[in-house]
Amino acid sequence: MATLTLSQLDKSYGAFHAVKAIDLDVSDGEFVALVGPSGCGKSTTLRMIAGLEEISSGDIRIGTRVVNDLPPRDRNISMVFQSYALYPHMTVAENMGFTLKIAGRDKAEIDRAVTEAARVLEIEPLLDRRPAQLSGGQRQRVAMGRAIVRDPDVFLFDEPLSNLDAKLRGQMRTEIKQLHARLGATIVYVTHDQVEAMTLADRIVIMKDGRIEQVGTPDEVFNHPASLFVAGFIGSPPMNMAPATVQGGRLVLGDGAALPVPPDITVPEGARVTLGLRPDDLYPEGHGIHSEDGHAVESRELAVDISEPLGNETLLFVPFGGSTWTARMLNPRAVRRGETLRFHFDLSRAHLFDADTGQSLR
Ligand code: ATP
Repeated sequence: MATLTLSQLDKSYGAFHAVKAIDLDVSDGEFVALVGPSGCGKSTTLRMIAGLEEISSGDIRIGTRVVNDLPPRDRNISMVFQSYALYPHMTVAENMGFTLKIAGRDKAEIDRAVTEAARVLEIEPLLDRRPAQLSGGQRQRVAMGRAIVRDPDVFLFDEPLSNLDAKLRGQMRTEIKQLHARLGATIVYVTHDQVEAMTLADRIVIMKDGRIEQVGTPDEVFNHPASLFVAGFIGSPPMNMAPATVQGGRLVLGDGAALPVPPDITVPEGARVTLGLRPDDLYPEGHGIHSEDGHAVESRELAVDISEPLGNETLLFVPFGGSTWTARMLNPRAVRRGETLRFHFDLSRAHLFDADTGQSLR
């Protein structure tokens, strides 16, 4: 395995600037997920690393080698596509061994590599089948097997699970995680699914409009989002966001209701901000996730508009301050529409963002 370094990597398609001078260091054996909304440049970045897309400027290094001008086959990279890209007329074993065959490796070596990869992925009984005789999850596993047999320096995954149904996607996610643990592989993984990114990656790269908004561990991007964009993209259900103005040292919300400025944040009088509070940090008294010890908790009697029971928890939608807030109720009980409950706002866990720049003020 090897490190991967992107330096000022840039891509334009004619006048359209798709990837804007991004810098990224991926360590040996690290799992990095690229996430962001459709069109933010994640696939273009991955395809440039693979050599499937020419770069406009900057450098791509694998280990100490600059690979900018190397064709894909000389980069020692394996890519797993969303579409699997299996050859329909070949068996599973032939699909998995194909790149080694065209690289001129001898049959015994190919057989050994294919058998080993099939063992790791537990697909030995499928080796003689053709792709049409496989389920979606099995095809995905074969595509991963084909990537593994090449023993690459870096694995690239382009939305590999998006063609699978939700249940299988969950299973394959666990398998990819186990595979990473077993192989110790350096992986760059593109997905638009933040749950996939959070659960799989050592670090997450959040992209927007061709730029990197933030790079961090799942904990960092969840608990310390650098911007409103990251805060809104990571976390489900999404963070509550309420526009506010700082008046008399308090946050005055849309309809004139006010909350204190979260502790440890300094904002000037008159500043226009957005208050961010995760549903985990807004809950009916006695039904919270976190301890309140030492936290700045503000309480309000509020009427519930809608409740969504999920079994182990219930999401409550509560109008307050000109916005509808999502609250998460643990150890739920039935809540009637219009019922008034005492809600705790844990302001020690709240975020403030500059309303103009979207940057975090914490
Ligand atoms: P998605 O999640 O939808 O796959 P993405 O983040 O992977 O999105 P890219 O495929 O990297 O996005 O595309 C980034 C931008 O570059 C998009 O606006 C896209 O339309 C544009 N783009 C991609 N390929 C080309 C091309 N060959 N010619 C012109 N524009 C392109």
